[in-house]
Amino acid sequence: MNDEAVELLGRKRSGKSWANTLTDRLIITTSANPFTRGLDYLYGVRGLALEPEMVNVVHDLDRRVAICTWIGEHIDAVNLQLETCLQACCDCFHLWEQPAIQIFAAPLAQGFGVDGICNFQTHPITLLVDVGRVQPQDWLALVAHEYAHAHAGSPGHHSQFARSLSHLCLGLGIAPPPEEWGMQPSSMANRLRFYPYCPPTEDPLAFWCGG
Ligand SMILES: [Zn+2]
Repeated sequence: MNDEAVELLGRKRSGKSWANTLTDRLIITTSANPFTRGLDYLYGVRGLALEPEMVNVVHDLDRRVAICTWIGEHIDAVNLQLETCLQACCDCFHLWEQPAIQIFAAPLAQGFGVDGICNFQTHPITLLVDVGRVQPQDWLALVAHEYAHAHAGSPGHHSQFARSLSHLCLGLGIAPPPEEWGMQPSSMANRLRFYPYCPPTEDPLAFWCGG
């Protein structure tokens, strides 16, 4: 989804408190069955996505059972790791500069072509990260990119985003975006869209099946 579409979506939905139907931090499930827990989780994160179809594996009849069962058994550990990444990002800023954010791992539909999203329409702001699309050593970089959106207060890849991301990179020991990119604002957004660069995995859904 491009920036314009996200912003359009934001405008269309502004004023509606649809996000509040999901309880704040935890997605609650009452089942002990891993498959049911996984499916409940996926429906929970669908409600936190910019649009539910961003998390479309619930319709994948071939792999749904494997994915939901894996999620039911492992998602808490994965989300705990993302929490650690999120905390590292928060620690780069003063307390009063830290936006209220929640983070969840989610398999994102290939068609949207994104590794993560920052949804400003929920409170707190929601980061959804597809941990299957990059290697685990790059999860922090992925979280930093989405956190920079939350800190800059916008889904765009403009100079405020560049400032937030550079600050985060320096704090996290990641190479910041080259300063000369700022000289060419027209191409800067396209470059920042994929920064920090994280090599993609071959089959993102393999991770979600335990592969
Ligand atoms: Zn971005």
